Amino acid sequence: MKTPFVSREKLAEITDKFPTPFHLYDEEGIRERARALHEAFSWNPGFKEYFAVKATPNPAILKILKEEGCGVDCASYVELLMSQKLGFVGQDIMFSSNNTPAEEFQFARDLGATINLDAYEDVAFLKEAAGIPKIISCRYNPGGVFELGTSIMDNPEEAKFGMTKDQLIQAFKELKELGAEKFGIHAFLASNTVSNDYYPELARQLFELAVEVVAETGVELDFINLSGGVGINYQPEGEENDIAVIGQGVRQAYEAILTPAGLGQVKIYTELGRFMLAPYGLLVTKVTHKKQTYRTYLGVDASAVNLLRPAMYGSYHHITNMDRPMGETEIVDVVGSLCENNDKFAINRPLPVSQIGDTLVIHDTGAHGFSMGYQYNAKLRSSEILLEQDGNVRMIRRAEKPEDYFATLYGFDFEK
Ligand SMILES: *Cc1c(COP(=O)(O)O)cnc(C)c1O
Repeated sequence: MKTPFVSREKLAEITDKFPTPFHLYDEEGIRERARALHEAFSWNPGFKEYFAVKATPNPAILKILKEEGCGVDCASYVELLMSQKLGFVGQDIMFSSNNTPAEEFQFARDLGATINLDAYEDVAFLKEAAGIPKIISCRYNPGGVFELGTSIMDNPEEAKFGMTKDQLIQAFKELKELGAEKFGIHAFLASNTVSNDYYPELARQLFELAVEVVAETGVELDFINLSGGVGINYQPEGEENDIAVIGQGVRQAYEAILTPAGLGQVKIYTELGRFMLAPYGLLVTKVTHKKQTYRTYLGVDASAVNLLRPAMYGSYHHITNMDRPMGETEIVDVVGSLCENNDKFAINRPLPVSQIGDTLVIHDTGAHGFSMGYQYNAKLRSSEILLEQDGNVRMIRRAEKPEDYFATLYGFDFEK
C-alpha cells in the first residue's frame, strides 16, 4: 500500500488555492528521513550527506536539508551557483561532475568545493584549468558487473563514469606530487537499489581498494564517498530499504577492513538524492478528459514534461485517486497531452473508476521528478508547493508563464 502523506481534505484545500498540476513536498518526511540517515551513520564521527542537487534543485528543499546538517553534491555551474546563493560554502559542497568544462572547475575551486575527479585525464585538465586543490577526490569504476549475491545490479563496465584502479593509483601519485594533501575515493556502481546490501557491498569493495591505494601511494585518505544509489520501492508492495540496517552493514565492513588497517579515522560520505526525497513528493494532477477507443484513457493536466521517468525509463509510479480511493476498478492508461505516445503515467493500470475533475496523485516524484522536466510542445514547467511541518502550505516555485518561454526569443525575429 502507498498512502499519500496528505489527506483528501487537506489536498482539496491545497488545490483550491494552487492550480494543478504541481509537485507537492512533505517537509516533515524530508526531515525525518535526514535524521534517520544521520542516526544510521552516527557511529562515524565525520559522516556527511551531500544531497544530490540534481534530484530536487529547489532552494526551500535545499534549505531544509541544510538545517538538517546536509551538504550538497553539485554537477554543474548553475547547481554550484544555486548552492552558493543558499550559503553552502567550502567543504559543504561536493563537485562530482564528469566531462567538466574548465570554467566549472574554476568556479568550484573559487567556492572551495571538494572536487571529485571523474577521469585520470582530469588531473592534467584540472591542473591547467584551475590548479590542484589541497583536498581532492577520485571516482572509481571497477569495470565488470556489480552483483549482489546472484543478481546483477548494474553494469559499471558500460558506464562512462570513473577511472580504473591503476588510473586511480596513478592519479593519487600525481596529485600528491602536485600538492594535494588529503584524498577521497568515490564510486557509484548501481542505481536505485532496493537492497540493504548495496552500500555494505560497495563499502567493502571501496575499503579494500582504499587499503591497497594507501599502501601503494602513502596518501592521507580523508574520506570514502559511497555516493547515491540507495533507492526506494516505487511499487506499492514489497520491501523498502532500512537505512539503520544499511548503516550497520557499512559499519561492519569498516571495522573489519579499515580499522585494522589503521584507517579508522576515514570519514564516510554519501550523496543520496532519490532516497532522501523521492517518497516526499507527489505530482498532483486532475482528470480533464476520459476517452474510450481500444483502451480507456484518463487524460490528466500533467504530462511527461512534469515527470519524465515513466516515458524515459518505463518506470512505475503508483497513482492514487484521492476522490475515489476505493470502489470498482477499470483498466486505464493515464496520459498527458503531449504529441508523443510515450506520454503515459500508467499503462493498463487498474484504477478506481474515475471521473473528470477527480484529483490524482502520482507517488514518489520528490526526486528526479520536477528536475527532469522540459518544455516539449511548449508546455510550461509547473509550480512546486511545500507542505510545512505545521500544516502550512506555501509555494516554493511558481509555474512558468508564456513570458518565461519567450524570454530567450525576444530580439530574434520575435518582439514583445
Ligand atoms: C545522480 C547522482 C547521485 C544521486 O543519485 P540517487 O540515485 O538519486 O541517490 C549522487 N552522486 C552522483 C555523482 C550522481 O550523479
